[in-house]
Amino acid sequence: MSIAPSGTSSTQNPRLRSLAYPYLGAAAAGAAGLIVERFGSARVLRHYQTARLRALLRHAYETVLFYRRRFDQAGFHPDQFLTFDDLQRVPITRKADIRLATDEEAIAIDCDPSRLHRHTTGGSTGEPTKLRFTAYEDRLLRTFRLLATMRLGLRLRDRRTQLRTDQPYPSKISEHFILPSQIVYAFLPPKEMRANLCQFKPDVIRGFPSALASFADQITDEDRLHLRPRFLTTDSENLTDLAREKIEKAFKAPVFDIYDSYECNVIAYQCTRSDGYHVMDPAVVVEVLNEDQPVQHGETGEVALTSLHAWAAPLIRYMPGDMVERGPSQCACGAPNSTLAKVYGRTHDLFLLPDGRRLHPKYLAAPLRLVIPVLRLYQIAQEATDRVVVKLQLVPGVEIPTEQLETVRTGMLRHLGEGVTVLIKVVDDIPSEPNGKFRPYRSYLNQGAVA
Ligand SMILES: [Zn+2]
Repeated sequence: MSIAPSGTSSTQNPRLRSLAYPYLGAAAAGAAGLIVERFGSARVLRHYQTARLRALLRHAYETVLFYRRRFDQAGFHPDQFLTFDDLQRVPITRKADIRLATDEEAIAIDCDPSRLHRHTTGGSTGEPTKLRFTAYEDRLLRTFRLLATMRLGLRLRDRRTQLRTDQPYPSKISEHFILPSQIVYAFLPPKEMRANLCQFKPDVIRGFPSALASFADQITDEDRLHLRPRFLTTDSENLTDLAREKIEKAFKAPVFDIYDSYECNVIAYQCTRSDGYHVMDPAVVVEVLNEDQPVQHGETGEVALTSLHAWAAPLIRYMPGDMVERGPSQCACGAPNSTLAKVYGRTHDLFLLPDGRRLHPKYLAAPLRLVIPVLRLYQIAQEATDRVVVKLQLVPGVEIPTEQLETVRTGMLRHLGEGVTVLIKVVDDIPSEPNGKFRPYRSYLNQGAVA
């Protein structure tokens, strides 16, 4: 069987064309996934995933050159996928592999490339990834995200505010009958931002952890009379204990973290009754791997994602470089979803130590609890194998006694082991990345020179 060249579209109306989806079966199955999310048992979820994987693998093999080549090289044929566990026979795709693929290789031949929504990811790693969705796929994934937020407590009449860091939006309000919403640029002057939110009175607030924590520092008791969200959600960055504590204290409401990516939208969302995460199983298959083998509950590994609804440019066993801890087979709350215990973030931020260990810098943040009340922001960076620099931005007008800083430093050294020095610097400002995200942890060892 050979892969035939792409046909041309007969639909002339640009609006219709943007909505048209060449995969009607997949579209219907995607919509059915929304019902599975709402009512499915663990068995139904797994059955749905297996059926979608079977169809997706066949589609990718028959229409996407990139996967045809890789499957052939690995000696895998979609006919070999009989049960869910056969997914492990499918070759893994690393970020670098798909990044190098051209449109001709990565986009299904029966999909018109001019119809696709293009999006280049921020590239905080210095490795931008091209994404290609149809309008239908994009909307379907957004609907899954809405369902995840509903699991966290969103109601249809709730007012939602989103803090955006990507571009200086004018504050935008949509007063729909259901889900009225507001978008606010997160870097507005504090007074203007407080006024915007106090006027809109959101029930649910969404933002990057750093943006919400920074806003939390600004709000006053007077603001709190108007600003009483029922809960907040964070995404896109590592939610540190410091940020969580600040946000929850300032808004007097719980924070729920959503683990998402540009490629798949929502991947998992925090359980409201435990610390773990529920995976959005009807949208994405999440595997946790160590040296390409699945890890057990309680073990840490790298995620491999298979997006069940990306048919224009499939993503199969795709490893974006995120580190997580696998959770139990069922969450303590009884939800049918598969689970993750912890989401650590990027593997390239792991610290490689002189004794050969790889340590997630999140552990180094624990001693900072001592100084949380006076801390506005922190960043822990490994600048060389034997050198860690900790930047602390304090609440204006306060200082940390030298002996407290020494206790923090000693606490960190205990995790780092022999031969590492820790330098603590109190600074006025810790800048975010060019894409607006803040990285509380970073390793410069994996990125060449110190920026
Ligand atoms: Zn749960």
